[in-house]
Amino acid sequence: MCIFCKIINHEIPSYTIYEDETIIAFLDIAQATYGHTLVVPKKHYDTLLDCPEDVLCHMMKVTQMLTKQIMEKTQAKGFNILNNGYEIAGQVIMHAHMHILPRYEEKEGFVIEMHENKDIDLAQVQELLTH
Ligand code: 5GP
Ligand code: ZN
Repeated sequence: MCIFCKIINHEIPSYTIYEDETIIAFLDIAQATYGHTLVVPKKHYDTLLDCPEDVLCHMMKVTQMLTKQIMEKTQAKGFNILNNGYEIAGQVIMHAHMHILPRYEEKEGFVIEMHENKDIDLAQVQELLTH
């Protein structure tokens, strides 16, 4: 059984901040920013792509609701909502989840960087994705 399933089954403790029939949200054990929260379906799906539509939609609704609530309570100036899909993209726990990262400073425990790859031909990508 995966570690998030154990949290859901109350086999290991968590700092839960929200729970309903299908979703649980608890504080990430390694707080990258103050209030860093994980939103997790109670049923096990490996990645976001494996979640049925109703679960996915509800998870996103809860994520939005909790992000608003966390922003209000913490006075965060912004937020990142993040999902890592598979190991190459940084997924460590193979149980689908969203990260809510309230943001206070530009440089803090979580920093996102995108660097343009000038070798990628947009026309070729469009051709691939539309045919
Ligand atoms: P991923 O890299 O899979 O997107 O994120 C997994 C997250 O789960 C990490 O940020 C990590 O700190 C968190 N995590 C791992 N083990 C536990 C745990 O036992 N309890 C809680 N609350 N968070 C955990
Ligand atoms: Zn699981």
